[in-house]
Amino acid sequence: MLKIGITGGIGSGKSTVCNILRNLGVPVFTSDDAARKILNEEEEVKKEVIKAFGRDTYNSEGKLDRERMASIVFNDPKALGLLNTIVHPKVNEAFEEWAQENEKSPYVVKEAAILLETGAYHDLDKVVSVFAAKEDRIRRVMKRDNTDEESVKKRMRFQYSDEERNELADFIIMNEEGVDLLPKVMELHEILLNEKKKW
Ligand code: ADP
Repeated sequence: MLKIGITGGIGSGKSTVCNILRNLGVPVFTSDDAARKILNEEEEVKKEVIKAFGRDTYNSEGKLDRERMASIVFNDPKALGLLNTIVHPKVNEAFEEWAQENEKSPYVVKEAAILLETGAYHDLDKVVSVFAAKEDRIRRVMKRDNTDEESVKKRMRFQYSDEERNELADFIIMNEEGVDLLPKVMELHEILLNEKKKW
C-alpha cells in the first residue's frame, strides 16, 4: 500500500480533489479533522495547549475555542510553531494507525494543508500539490468561509509558497478557475494505481 500526501494552499481545491478520490473508493485521512478531534478529546494535548496558551483557549464544555486559537496563532509564527509541535506528532500517529487499518487498499491519501512545512511528507511515498492562483484562492475562501480578504491572507502567510510546494511535489494538479477537476483526478488515480504495480 502506498501512502500519498495531498497538499495545497488554502483554497487551492485539495478537499475537492480528495472528495473525488473518496468517491472513487480511495481511503482519505483529513489531517485537519484529526487535529480537531485530538485537540478536543486528548487530555494530555489539552493540558499542553492550556499550559502554552492559557485556560481560555477552551470553553466551559472543554472544546477548543477555535476563533481564539486562530487569533493567537495566525498573528504569531512562534505560537503557530508551538501548537504544531504539540498536535502534529499526534496527527501523524493517528494517520499511521489509520493507514494500517486500510493496508489492503492499493493506496491511501493523507490530506494536509501543511505537509511539507512540517516534514511529515518524508513518511509518505508520493506528494501531490494542488495548485491555483493566489487571487482565485482568496476569492474562493472568502466565499466558502464567508470571511474577509485580510483573514485569508493571514493564513496564507504561514504556508509555503506555491513555488516551494510545487518543487517538492511529485505531481501537480492545476486547478484554475472553472476547471473540470474530475478527469484530472481520474488520471491521477490511474497513475497511482499503476505506481503500485511498478513497486
Ligand atoms: P482547500 O481544501 O484547498 O482549502 P477547497 O477544496 O475547499 O480548498 O476549495 C475551496 C473552494 O473553492 C470550495 O468552495 C470549492 O468548492 C471551490 N473550488 C474548488 N475548485 C474550484 C474550481 N476549479 N473552480 C471554482 N471553484 C472551485
